Amino acid sequence: MLTISNHSRDSAGLTYVYPVLSRRAGGLSVGINLNTNNACNWRCVYCQVPGLIRGNAPAINLDQLERELHAFLDEVLHGDFFAVNRIPAENQMIRDIAISGNGEPTTAREFPEVIDLIGRVITELGMAGQIKIVLITNGSFVNRSIVQKGLVRLAELNGEIWFKLDSATRAGIKKINGVSISVDSVRRNLRTAVRLCPTWIQTCIFSLDGLPTPNAEREAYIQFIEGLLYECLPVRGVMLYGLARPSLQPEAARLSVVAGEWMDQFAEQIRQTGIVVKVNQ
Ligand code: SF4
Repeated sequence: MLTISNHSRDSAGLTYVYPVLSRRAGGLSVGINLNTNNACNWRCVYCQVPGLIRGNAPAINLDQLERELHAFLDEVLHGDFFAVNRIPAENQMIRDIAISGNGEPTTAREFPEVIDLIGRVITELGMAGQIKIVLITNGSFVNRSIVQKGLVRLAELNGEIWFKLDSATRAGIKKINGVSISVDSVRRNLRTAVRLCPTWIQTCIFSLDGLPTPNAEREAYIQFIEGLLYECLPVRGVMLYGLARPSLQPEAARLSVVAGEWMDQFAEQIRQTGIVVKVNQ
């Protein structure tokens, strides 16, 4: 049975499509997992992917993905999915389709075709323009032309990007995301994303070895946001979220949830820059 905390990628018995009854989404989120090999080009300390390995998504069977998505959405819309899974009445709605799985989805070579097929399926089912499509990404492949092609199509489909930014320092990115990239390249990719599709910044907040985000890191983050606003980059806002589920990485024991009050204070500090901030504890 699905519960509010059941995010298992195979709970519907499908390869690419999985249901998530998410507090964050406030209803049923239909997930699309392109990284069936549990491979990501990053290695975040809080990552909840089991058996995470470095790498890219495997070749995608587009026909199978399209069949699965069509059949699953059709079942939710016209079958007894909600009743069978005893989903409470207030959550009996499809909030979004989330391209988010066991790794970075934009590493899939077929990424633009995946967006195209989502567009076809929701059009066939009369959901076009009525359902939000969210791409959850670390943003590191946004400089690639095939990814940009997909992002343009995503914007046409009422989609949005949730762009990961856990630190605005090179050292912080290395420590949290396990990757050596400059803050300038993150900024460049974010600019490109915003130019192509509505984009939110998504930031995971947690304590490491009992300490929440250090002052210097918070200041760098605020300066980064101020810089975006200074250049009038129309970022939709910032979403702060806590550790909803335990990390499945070796650092798991060093991570803990920050107090709600601490998170709210940091959110307020970010709001002072003038940007919209949402908090999901
Ligand atoms: S980018 Fe996402 S999938 Fe990749 S390691 Fe980080 S949290 Fe895991």
